[in-house]
Amino acid sequence: MTATAPITQDVLTLPRKLPEGGLTNLVGLTRDQMRDAFLAAGTPEKQVKMRVGQVWQWVYYWGIRDFDQMSNLAKDYRALLAQNFVVELPQVVTRQVSGDGTRKYLVRIAGGHEVEVVYIPETDRGTLCISSQVGCTLTCSFCHTGTQKLVRNLTAAEIVGQVMLARDDLGEWPVKGQPKPEVRLISNVVLMGMGEPLYNFDNVRDAMRVVMDDEGIALGRRRITLSTSGVVPEIARTATEIGCLLAVSFHATTDEVRDRLVPINKKWNIAALLEALRDYPGLSNSERITFEYVMLDGVNDTKEDAHRLVELLRGIPAKVNLIPFNEWPGAPYKRSSGNRIHAFADIIHNAGYASPIRTPRGEDIMAACGQLKSATEKQRKSAAKGQANAV
Ligand code: SAH
Ligand code: SF4
Repeated sequence: MTATAPITQDVLTLPRKLPEGGLTNLVGLTRDQMRDAFLAAGTPEKQVKMRVGQVWQWVYYWGIRDFDQMSNLAKDYRALLAQNFVVELPQVVTRQVSGDGTRKYLVRIAGGHEVEVVYIPETDRGTLCISSQVGCTLTCSFCHTGTQKLVRNLTAAEIVGQVMLARDDLGEWPVKGQPKPEVRLISNVVLMGMGEPLYNFDNVRDAMRVVMDDEGIALGRRRITLSTSGVVPEIARTATEIGCLLAVSFHATTDEVRDRLVPINKKWNIAALLEALRDYPGLSNSERITFEYVMLDGVNDTKEDAHRLVELLRGIPAKVNLIPFNEWPGAPYKRSSGNRIHAFADIIHNAGYASPIRTPRGEDIMAACGQLKSATEKQRKSAAKGQANAV
């Protein structure tokens, strides 16, 4: 991993059709795609809208995957569905629960690849952190995921599936005859797991539309935050095509330092990024952009940095999330001291911007920000190391 590695976007995208068995997975299809799939399977044109509505509600409202349990569908229509479709989620390989209640799921997807999903419970809400790619093509020098080569983009099914499998594990699907709980266990979704979501835009967009759909999981658009390292040309589409909130991995106040930390800065520098953020459609005080800023000891954490950050933010409805660096084996940085982080936060706060310091969660299970990396990749590396040592 070097800061000079080229930034590329040559990634594989799987076809929607499952290769084995020829059955199409309904998960992750938009309503229009489901409609087309039902028509192609022989659903009469005049029934198709109703059928999509019914199946959608079973799958996304009730969490039902077995066509036989879809009791308002005629038996022969259930058979037709079963002959053509499956409702399939990625497989949970392991689930770790941290001392603080954070849950980390290692999830296996087609091709044997793995991604991580993290659930962070709080008193009155719960956030699910989902992945958009296996690995990442970008090589941010402080990020564990960035040390793992990109394997491929996740499909929309695999992105929606992460939300569904977490709801399974938390027991969050509604139960017929029982009142809806007032507080949702997964009240928020953040695209802050593995990968750069704006390098997998279409699948992320389709998946979020499914998750936001009112007749299903129904998460409001302001309950979803997409975090980008700064893929400038795709930023505006986040507002116009998804409508969710935006977070930006900012992390530095000069191009010289940002080039080193977030190498995509060499392609779109701070000025270009800020211009795209100023133009972000729908930006307002109630829908501010979150600037994520990882606190690295002696790298980006001085008072001068804080003052420069305030200057750069001028005119942008913003909030600054200060993230104490989460260490990982071999990481080239150290976390800034508590004093430094608080002094930095005070300067931002006094300039009129909210500047919460993020409490690291799930560190004991390596589930904190930037610590995610597929276990297979870790095992492969340590096996290779073991072999090298044995020679
Ligand atoms: N690729 C996207 C989303 C995933 S990263 C992006 O970069 O925005 C989610 C957040 O965690 C980003 O702000 C990232 O910069 C931050 N992060 C990465 N590694 C970290 C680490 N070791 N400690 C703290 N935060 C880290
Ligand atoms: Fe990729 Fe985001 Fe990690 Fe950078 S911080 S390497 S963009 S996952």
